Amino acid sequence: MPSRLQQLDKRFVWHPFTQMRDWLKGDPIVIGSGHGATLRDIRGREYLDANSSIWTNLHGHNHPKINAAIRRQLKKIAHSSALGLANEPASLLAAKMVSAANPESAIRNPKLSKVFYSDDGSTALEVALKLAYEYTRRTRSKSARGAAQPAPARFLSLDGAYHGDTIGAVSLGHIDLFHKAYRGLLFKTDKVPSPYCYRCPFNRARPERDDARNHRKCEWECVGKFEQQFSTQKKKRDPYAAFVFEPLMQGAAGMIPQPEGWLKRVTAIARGHGALLIADEVMTGFGRTGVGVQASACQENAPKRGLQQHPPLFACQQEAVEPDFLCLAKGMTGGYLPMAATLTTRKVFDAFLGEYHEFKTFFHGHSYTANQLGAAASLASLEILQSERSIQARRRLEMTLAEELKTLWSLPQVGDIRRTGLVAGIELVRDWRTKEPFALRDRIGIRVCEAMAKRGVLTRSIGNVIVLMPPYCTTPGQTKRMIDVLRDSVATTLKR
Ligand code: PMP
Repeated sequence: MPSRLQQLDKRFVWHPFTQMRDWLKGDPIVIGSGHGATLRDIRGREYLDANSSIWTNLHGHNHPKINAAIRRQLKKIAHSSALGLANEPASLLAAKMVSAANPESAIRNPKLSKVFYSDDGSTALEVALKLAYEYTRRTRSKSARGAAQPAPARFLSLDGAYHGDTIGAVSLGHIDLFHKAYRGLLFKTDKVPSPYCYRCPFNRARPERDDARNHRKCEWECVGKFEQQFSTQKKKRDPYAAFVFEPLMQGAAGMIPQPEGWLKRVTAIARGHGALLIADEVMTGFGRTGVGVQASACQENAPKRGLQQHPPLFACQQEAVEPDFLCLAKGMTGGYLPMAATLTTRKVFDAFLGEYHEFKTFFHGHSYTANQLGAAASLASLEILQSERSIQARRRLEMTLAEELKTLWSLPQVGDIRRTGLVAGIELVRDWRTKEPFALRDRIGIRVCEAMAKRGVLTRSIGNVIVLMPPYCTTPGQTKRMIDVLRDSVATTLKR
């Protein structure tokens, strides 16, 4: 018999990215509380939160430091408007984020020096998009097209890109399943191949029981294609305004990791053609791409990208790429509250300065912009992230993940295991030797996740890719359990 809460949910709530006909057939898990890496439903059953509550939670649920920071802030005020007013936590946070997002050597003169707050990943991208568009139109010479025509501003993003669900962010996206229906509402953007080594048409390597990046046989043809795209666009006298990308790992595209050096190469090409760089670190930001133990047992041959004492918090920094826009959300508050930020440069900021009557103002903002509770939580989260204890915990988690993930290669339906830092995608196929994919309508990923939930581990799949993205406080025992449950669930779901 469904509980009253289950009944209310089924009667009134419409869930995101969910076929509600399927949803209404079952009784939902109703989460009542959480602690560390564990979620507990209202019946008292515990689950491991193996995707950090859709990639948001960093340090675990009910973290005493974030709880205390929010309580302290609540005693003062929850929210006041950023339209015409400043506030304490948002000002402190902006300064801290600027120092975290720039190399230590540039601390006196940071490139990313301005912070525009918003509410979630999609709005962080909308802000970058609108700023880049307007900046380009204002600064680009109109002479080539004739003064009567405004300078164009066209965007390039990666195949399979997902940057959010608002119309601007959807326009940047290239996932037909999500985006095709809205084509009539969207503006045109172009796409370039993403470096999906496992399924890359240029990779001549045979499948191995190892991360496909480690065995790729290619001549960086994907980078050649990238260069070609820019040259073609230049010939059309309509050079790209900006290249939008997720650095090191594309999330909703199916956890597609980039081979070392790809990001550095393509961003240099984009820059060379005068394009702005918009880094979407909504998923990868705040330590998710790891502390640099890539040379772990999981990737014995892999180079040591980012191996250092005090690891950078953002993926771009691991390849020393300095974007013009850095879009942050999800983990910013430690997974507590919806808050986002778009960091940008003095140059962009200056293009919007003028006398009031020139109307160069950036006419954009949200009611909850620079929310005080969110900013207090974010400050506490940043402090935890920069503590030695958290760095050690992340290092340990990364090593355990690398070790435990190796055990999944024993399953013939595991085609690829791709991990970047503290996020992993496990691609399921009919047979690893042929890489033949399951049809989406077979709902293999969904069924495996349902089997995992029955065994006490919660995550979501992207098509046939199972995502593991544990909170940073996950213990080695919990990590092992997540992977044991995943292995059992794949084996029983795909039993021949
Ligand atoms: N960018 C990326 C890379 C994302 O993964 C997401 C969400 N999955 C978004 C943007 C959109 O974020 P939000 O859901 O908070 O709007």
